[in-house]
Amino acid sequence: MSLIEKTATELLALQAEGKASALEIADAFLAASAAREPKLKSFMLAPDADAVRTRAKAIDAARAKGEPLGKLAGVPVAVKDVLCTKGIRTTCSSKMLENFVPPYDAHAVERLKTEGAIIFGKTNMDEFAMGSSTENSAYHTTRNPWDTTRVPGGSSGGSAAAVAGCQAPLSLGTDTGGSIRQPAALCGIVGMKPTYGRVSRYGLIAFASSLDQVGPFAHDVTDCALMMEAIAGHDKRDSTSVNESVPAYTRTVNDPVKGLRIGVPKEFFGQGLDAEVEASVRAALKEYEKLGATLVDVSLPHSPYALAVYYIVAPAEASSNLARFDGMHYGHRTATKGDLIATYSKSRGEGFGPEVQRRIILGTYVLSSGYKDAYYLKALKVRRLVKKDFDDTFATCDVVMGPTTPTAAFKAGEKSDDPLALYLSDVYTVSCNLAGIPGLSIPCGFTKTGLPIGLQLLGTPFAEEKLLRVARMYEAATDWHTKRPVV
Ligand code: GLN
Repeated sequence: MSLIEKTATELLALQAEGKASALEIADAFLAASAAREPKLKSFMLAPDADAVRTRAKAIDAARAKGEPLGKLAGVPVAVKDVLCTKGIRTTCSSKMLENFVPPYDAHAVERLKTEGAIIFGKTNMDEFAMGSSTENSAYHTTRNPWDTTRVPGGSSGGSAAAVAGCQAPLSLGTDTGGSIRQPAALCGIVGMKPTYGRVSRYGLIAFASSLDQVGPFAHDVTDCALMMEAIAGHDKRDSTSVNESVPAYTRTVNDPVKGLRIGVPKEFFGQGLDAEVEASVRAALKEYEKLGATLVDVSLPHSPYALAVYYIVAPAEASSNLARFDGMHYGHRTATKGDLIATYSKSRGEGFGPEVQRRIILGTYVLSSGYKDAYYLKALKVRRLVKKDFDDTFATCDVVMGPTTPTAAFKAGEKSDDPLALYLSDVYTVSCNLAGIPGLSIPCGFTKTGLPIGLQLLGTPFAEEKLLRVARMYEAATDWHTKRPVV
């Protein structure tokens, strides 16, 4: 296996054993990311080779001197372009922020740097994280490394494609309604959305603040645990960051959960679920039974409403969050001369793409007087019921499992003219965000045509440690996570 196909854990071991230097690793990924980029287009901003190499040399020098090194020393990590990076352009894949260079790092980025990681480019995404295919980027469409005629999922499609396509061993994404788990599933890698409050949102450009979470993409569960150790934890700059201690996830990740009870919600296996996806997910559940787990039939009776609730709450919050981009306070300003209102509307009309405009209009509508009770406030009530369904279910089981997505990766362009069809691809992922619970997607098979399939695992708040152990049980018994696409 070449360097670029290795996991972060393996790359750390190679460095510790003196078999590879941080510089060799950096050079291997720089070469691979450049060579594969014309096909995959994972990056919004390619890694800065000079900066990457300088940082790698500094890590090697520190190691040679016997200085203490961080958990991720010398490991390249690509970062979704929605997270602020000090001195590095951060666009949200929007024309609105085309020239925005943040003066500070997002908390998660800061943590990665402290742990010795090498920030390795900014990845492409759906504009302002709104989408499920990365086709809503204002710049270019990212491709799925398993089949470049297909989408990588979204909105963190660039981060998923970069890891799946071995352009970087790890990456950061964000998940508001599935934007880490869905692309992880479609690209055949591991992706985790932590509990709301587990990872600070400081420096994350807000989409829907009550739903947004930052999380990792990795080739396997062990690497995911490693990234979680680095980025989780309290940060007083995010008022919703929770002061809960962060377990040493990597230390326990190989401990199986005894007497594991898996809730299998009937609502996750209904109409619209592709037969091949269902077969792989059911086979994974069988594998868990072989490992000693008990499957429990459960119901999440309000989950059929989750998608509708999400597409009211998320746009409502987005319409308010995105109000700051008016060409005066923040963002692109039109060159056309006019009064204040004309400048606002021209700037926003030019700066925001069609999907972002659609969300702002939807969000403004559901919050407007006369409609707020009927839509927004009603949605909040149903959101509470979605959460209660999980509370009830977790009284009888440790985790809930089902498919991450209803289908494998779809063709680029297939759903771009039909926003509703695209929204439907989030049907299994949004309830996790509405409830604030942690969730992850792990690879559990391939379709006959060679497209990856994801298994979704959901847990109780702040039970990431258990969730990772449960995920690792299956991974240790299977080899899906060892597969790499031919790019
Ligand atoms: N696909 C969903 C949306 O478009 C989720 C996006 C996300 O999680 N950022 O809203």
